[in-house]
Amino acid sequence: MPKVCIIGAGLSGTELIFQLSKFNIEIFVYEPRLDPLYKSGAHKSTFFAELVCSNSLRSNKLHTAAGLLKEELRLYNSFLIKLADKHAVPAGDALAVSRDDFCKEATESILQLPNLKVIPKEADDLDKLVKEFDAVCVCAGPLASKGLSEQLAKITGEEYLYFYDAIAPLLERSSIDMGVCFKAERYGIPGDEGADYINCPLTREQYYNFVEELIKAKKAPLHEGDEGVFFRGCMPIEAMAEDAPDTLLNGPMRGDGLIDSKNYTTPFSAVQLRQDDLNASVYNMVGFQTRLIYSEQERLFRCIPGLKNVEFLRFGSMHRNTFLNAPKVLNSDMSLKLNEKIFVSGQISGVEGYVESIASAFYTVEGIFNKLFKRSVFEFPSVTAIGSLKRHLSDANPKNFQPMKMNFGLLPELSPSDKKLFLEKGNKRHETRLALSKRSISLLKKIFT
Ligand SMILES: Cc1cc2nc3c(=O)[nH]c(=O)nc-3n(C[C@H](O)[C@H](O)[C@H](O)COP(=O)(O)OP(=O)(O)OC[C@H]3O[C@@H](n4cnc5c(N)ncnc54)[C@H](O)[C@@H]3O)c2cc1C
Repeated sequence: MPKVCIIGAGLSGTELIFQLSKFNIEIFVYEPRLDPLYKSGAHKSTFFAELVCSNSLRSNKLHTAAGLLKEELRLYNSFLIKLADKHAVPAGDALAVSRDDFCKEATESILQLPNLKVIPKEADDLDKLVKEFDAVCVCAGPLASKGLSEQLAKITGEEYLYFYDAIAPLLERSSIDMGVCFKAERYGIPGDEGADYINCPLTREQYYNFVEELIKAKKAPLHEGDEGVFFRGCMPIEAMAEDAPDTLLNGPMRGDGLIDSKNYTTPFSAVQLRQDDLNASVYNMVGFQTRLIYSEQERLFRCIPGLKNVEFLRFGSMHRNTFLNAPKVLNSDMSLKLNEKIFVSGQISGVEGYVESIASAFYTVEGIFNKLFKRSVFEFPSVTAIGSLKRHLSDANPKNFQPMKMNFGLLPELSPSDKKLFLEKGNKRHETRLALSKRSISLLKKIFT
C-alpha cells in the first residue's frame, strides 16, 4: 500500500486526508498543535480544521464568487463544506458555523479513519520524509513553522518563498467611473507601457480630507509575528500618512507629472490603478497596501473620485503569510518542479481564504493520486471556480504573484452562446455573475451525473 505523509491538519490538510482516505493509501499526518509546547501564532486549539479567525465561510449566494466556490465544493462532495452546512449558525446570506462543533466533528471523523497515523509534532526534515514516503504533501498554511519554511525555501530557492503579504486592494474594472478617471502613462514618463494606468484625480481639498480620515481610520489588530512585516519601501499607506500629511504626495498619491487628457491639467494628487489580470477586468490600487479593517477600506476608498461605486474583489492587507511563488515553482499537478515527490496544498500554495484552501485540496489530491496510481488526470474545467483558481497558480505573472481569493475576474468571460443559455435580463453586474455561476454549475452537474 502506498504511504503518503501530510504535513499539517488545517483546513486544506483535513479535506485532503478525507479525500485521500477513499483510496487504498496509508496516511501519516504531522500536526504540531497536538503538542502542548508548540505555538502557532494564531491557532488556539488542538482541533483539526481550526478556523483561525472569523467563523464565516462567506456568502452562500450564487452571484458571489465565494457562493459559487462552495456550491462547486458541494458537488465535489467536500467533507468540510458538508460539515459546515451541518453546523451552520444564522448569519443572513453567509455560511457561518458553530466553530467548535465544526472542528470537533472534523477531528473525530478524521481520527476514526482506517490506515491513518497521527504524529503530534512538527515535520522538520523534508529530505528524510521524501525518502520514507511515496508522496509528501505540505499543507502547513500561512503560519508554517520556521524549520519547515526554511527547508522548503532551500528546495524551491529562497527568492520564491515569501513570509508576509503586503496586498493592495483589487477593484473590478467595470465599476470604476471612467467619466471621472483618466488613463495615462505612469507619471507621464514615455516608455513602452502606453497609457496603461487609470488615474483617479484629487483636488487639494480632497487629498487633505482623505489623509485626515486615513489617519483616524480603524486598523486591523496585529497578530503575533506580524510586527516584522513592515519596513521602509513596504509601509502601509496609513503609516506613511501618519509620518507627515504630504508624504503620500511624494509616493502612491503623487499627482505631479500626470496630465489629465480630459482637460490637459495636472491633478494635485492622484491614485493610480494598474491592470492585474489578462482580461483587464481587475485593477489594483498601486502602493495602497494597508492594515485598515475591511469596512474602513470600503468607506474611505469609495471617497476617492471615480471609485464611488467601486466593487472590491479583494481588500488590502499586511500580515505574516508564508506562500510559494506558484507559477515559478509548481508543476500543474501541484508538485514542486525541483522535487516531484513533494506536493503543496492550501494557502501556502498561493490561494487565500478558508474556502479556497479547502478547494485547493481537490486538485492536489488529484495530483497525488495520479502520481501514486498512474491513472488519467481529471481536468478541472476552466469555466469553474476551482478550475480557475488552479489556473491562477500556473498562469499568473510570477513577477508580482500574490495569493488569490476566488473572484469572478478569474473566470473566462461569457461567450455569446453562454449568454443565450444563462444570462437573464436585469441588473447587469448581478446577472452576469449569476450567469457565470450557472454556467459552471450546469457543467459540473453534467460531469457528475
Ligand atoms: C491570523 C489569520 C487570520 C485569518 N483569518 C481568515 C478569515 O477570517 N477568513 C478566511 O477566509 N481566511 C483567513 N485567513 C487565511 C487562511 O485562509 C486561513 O489561514 C486558512 O486556515 C488556510 O488554510 P490552510 O489549510 O492552508 O492552513 P491552516 O488552516 O493554517 O493549517 C495549517 C496547519 O499546518 C500546521 N503546521 C504548521 N507547520 C507545520 C509543520 N512544520 N509540520 C506539521 N504541521 C505544521 C498548523 O499547525 C496548522 O494546523 C487567516 C489567516 C491568518 C494567518
